[in-house]
Amino acid sequence: MLYLSTRGHADRKRFCEILLEGLAPDGGLYLPERYPQVDAASLQRLRGVFNEGKPGGYAALAFEILSLYIDDIPAAHLRAICERTYTEAVFGNPAIVPLKQLDDGFYLEALSNGPTLAFKDMAMQLLGQLFEYELGRRGEELNILGATSGDTGSAAEHAMKGKRGVRVFMLSPHGRMSPFQQAQMFSLTDPNIHNIAVEGVFDDCQDIVKAVSNDLDFKRRHKIGTVNSINWARLLAQVVYYFAGYFQATGSDSERVSFTVPSGNFGNVCAGHVARQMGLPIHRLVVATNENDVLDEFFRTGVYRVRGSADTHETSSPSMDISKASNFERFVFDLVGRDPARCKALFADALPREGRFDLSGDAVFADASAHYGFLSGRSTHADRLATIRDVDRRFAVVIDTHTADGVKVAREHFEPGVPMVVLETALPIKFAETIVEALGHEPERPAAYAGIEALPKRVKVMAADAAAVKAYIAEHTTAA
Ligand SMILES: *Cc1c(COP(=O)(O)O)cnc(C)c1O
Repeated sequence: MLYLSTRGHADRKRFCEILLEGLAPDGGLYLPERYPQVDAASLQRLRGVFNEGKPGGYAALAFEILSLYIDDIPAAHLRAICERTYTEAVFGNPAIVPLKQLDDGFYLEALSNGPTLAFKDMAMQLLGQLFEYELGRRGEELNILGATSGDTGSAAEHAMKGKRGVRVFMLSPHGRMSPFQQAQMFSLTDPNIHNIAVEGVFDDCQDIVKAVSNDLDFKRRHKIGTVNSINWARLLAQVVYYFAGYFQATGSDSERVSFTVPSGNFGNVCAGHVARQMGLPIHRLVVATNENDVLDEFFRTGVYRVRGSADTHETSSPSMDISKASNFERFVFDLVGRDPARCKALFADALPREGRFDLSGDAVFADASAHYGFLSGRSTHADRLATIRDVDRRFAVVIDTHTADGVKVAREHFEPGVPMVVLETALPIKFAETIVEALGHEPERPAAYAGIEALPKRVKVMAADAAAVKAYIAEHTTAA
């Protein structure tokens, strides 16, 4: 299996080469040259492998799916990596991603029972194992530098803590994360985890990461890498739970299932697109956004218009507060018939120049829904509150704000006879303030998280200054 760049770079690479890289050299995103196909016989076999989520079933399914895309890790090693990653000890239950039924034919797929209580653990935990394996094999080290406003940084730290060969330097805006989120990150005591609280906002953190990454000499000497959502390995890990959700929602492989996905950077739902392209019988892929509705606008109108930071709203589903969707290029590449010149013209020319592109007049736009199954919708703070209340009252289930956006939009696209699975992307305890606003009481807190706000914190507070951050990194790494 070889990987190509969406912008047409001539190189073709294997999985472990792109594992440690971010973007392709031409600024494009990596995709497999073709999507491996699962026919009826292999789908039936995979259903047996998953075995209704019995202990070990999810890890075995992950191994089968990953094997279709990874041919440069020996099978026995890849299987061991999957078995180490997807355990009941880490994900809290043997099925790893159990379905919860709400209405008839309407389900939540629980993806948020990992260490940081958000779905990003599903991919990041695997990435941690893959990094440790590949760096060990090469005898190399990697220093991950990132900026976070909450979920991503926390998931990355919990996945990389204690891993050999990896250090994490994670910038976050000082005093702007919820006390729960701060506790999740700052209570880690592993020597390879460095929390840096920047006196500024999230954009300042991101600017520093860019400044450091643009210093190519520093980047090379200190082996700086990232774990952002454009990493193909993260996306691949997410493909697995579409299969697991499908098997749980159906009794036979002749049935179709729709998925609704609370979306920000288009990573999660892009994994659904990959699963559907492989032949998994997915009917609809419904993209749910909050007030930051860049993606909903595209799927309704054909116009993709990125927002500036002034037009990016701070909402009560903050992990979906994005101004542009960093994985969207992968889908558009497929939509324009895998024409790299076309994709490059849209993302490397039109978008930087005009801040938008318009496919409304193009015949391919109709394919987004008709051929690729995409639909969309948006949700607001008021919708979120109403949906959280309704689901609590009717089903005695408390959902988080992002999942509420998903449920709201899923209901608008529910078709009788086609099971609808909404991906639960976080647990409500992470966004307690809005739950209190909706329900008048705090959400339940998993026992392991009792009192974490009171744990000692390990964090370095710093001015929003790239030079200071570089000096800190230099002091805590060994330069080549
Ligand atoms: C990251 C995140 C999302 C958005 O996922 P994308 O892959 O960026 O579309 C939605 N909900 C939660 C809770 C998240 O952490």
